[in-house]
Amino acid sequence: MTEKKRLKALAKLRPYVREVADRMKLRDWVVTIQEPPPDNEGSLASMCAVEGRARANIRFSDDFFELSPENMRQTVVHELVHCHFGSMHNGLCEVLDKGAHAFYLETFERGIDVTADLIAPSMPLPPC
Ligand SMILES: [Zn+2]
Repeated sequence: MTEKKRLKALAKLRPYVREVADRMKLRDWVVTIQEPPPDNEGSLASMCAVEGRARANIRFSDDFFELSPENMRQTVVHELVHCHFGSMHNGLCEVLDKGAHAFYLETFERGIDVTADLIAPSMPLPPC
């Protein structure tokens, strides 16, 4: 994906993510789409909730923009569901030992994904 095409796609995505965030009871959150894309290989998107603040930074990979509109919507919802669990997640990541942390991450992501699957159909499809 060229940089020009990527920047154009991100510009179209920003108001969509804002709309979905508002519908997901995140109206008071500042949700920023950041560059560069996530650095972990194979990730469609990544999200970081800023500890103690209603603020989240989301990054989208080039592969994200190749998804079907339904899968793009599910991915956006998935990242935004994380916002509601940001404090719990950050706290647990600080106290769990390595083995418990790996188990927690796997089950947590599965739970976030199922929750996103349930919420996504009630959200509009993205414009891109
Ligand atoms: Zn996730």
